[in-house]
Amino acid sequence: MIRLRPVARTLTVSTPGPPVTDPGIAQLGANECPFGPLPSVEEAVLATLRRRANRYPDVEMVELRSAIADFHGVHLDQVWVGAGSLDLLRAACAATSGPGDEIVVGLPAFSEYPLNVALTGATLRGVPSVEHTFDVAAMADAIGERTTLVTLCNPNNPTGTAVGLDAVGPFLRAVPADRLVLFDEAYREFVDDGALDGGFPDGFSLLAGHPNLVVLRTFSKAYGLANLRVGYAVGDPEVVGAMRRLRVTCVVTDLSQAAALAALAAQDELNARVAEVTAERHRLRVELAGLGWPTPVSHTNFVWLPTGGDAQAIVAACRAVDVLVQAFGPDGVRITVGLPRDNDRFLDVMATRARAR
Ligand code: PMP
Repeated sequence: MIRLRPVARTLTVSTPGPPVTDPGIAQLGANECPFGPLPSVEEAVLATLRRRANRYPDVEMVELRSAIADFHGVHLDQVWVGAGSLDLLRAACAATSGPGDEIVVGLPAFSEYPLNVALTGATLRGVPSVEHTFDVAAMADAIGERTTLVTLCNPNNPTGTAVGLDAVGPFLRAVPADRLVLFDEAYREFVDDGALDGGFPDGFSLLAGHPNLVVLRTFSKAYGLANLRVGYAVGDPEVVGAMRRLRVTCVVTDLSQAAALAALAAQDELNARVAEVTAERHRLRVELAGLGWPTPVSHTNFVWLPTGGDAQAIVAACRAVDVLVQAFGPDGVRITVGLPRDNDRFLDVMATRARAR
């Protein structure tokens, strides 16, 4: 038998099935953006394809990193770009943690969190949520001598809930200054700031006071570029430099860099699309509540439906009519906000179930 690391034999990776290419299927299972690329993004990608396909990408990604730095008012050496924010989650885990260490993660967590923790050989210290929302005080209490990394996915996947500044401020102050705190803000653009106590604890406004904080953002969600794989990390140059050293060289192609640059320049279009998604999110939640399924306030492009043991049955009923939604164990289903006609197909399934109850 080949001498593989045990984790390479035992890690359970998710098997999401083949990509959905049939337009008859309502894909509400992957938290994607339902819209196609903006014309300016399409043009930038095609122009780069023609000019650069035979060349290696710009490894240091200076143009894109500079644009991100300008956008957030930070320095170039505070920004690193990866193949999606997952690439950077992996780099943050690898940069901080190894066997014997502990990584604090609020539960339920996005499935990639336990995977990336396991890859390092560190132990995951899970902290249960209260009413579908992270208990950040308990997360701070969970930090021990061996803790190397504390994650805060805000808003969280799969629950869609967020924690406001009133709770996050004390949480940040409780974390020892030599432990990295990772704010995963993949869904930040969809946050309803006014619905959070103290407003949204935007990582960028907290960076100056907390050099142990790194913020992750992505072009995969609101910007609608999930297939192009671009995310970024912003933090202290010491930490960002470590992520840069641990990169896989050339993973972010020039096509992806060009797409992200064009997308970043199209803030008006972005805001219009986010407004469409959040309006549909509101409609979904109101209609679900009307059918007897209340859902927690969502700050993302999906809705978390606590199902009390019914999750698999709901997913199966949806799949029977070519609607894909995601179950998390028996107790919850996550529904991505799609186009109105696709959301209606999901609501039809739930209306039928409501009548049968
Ligand atoms: N963080 C969270 C919380 C997510 O839900 C996702 C995608 N589902 C990601 C990160 C990864 O996004 P990407 O790698 O596409 O940037």
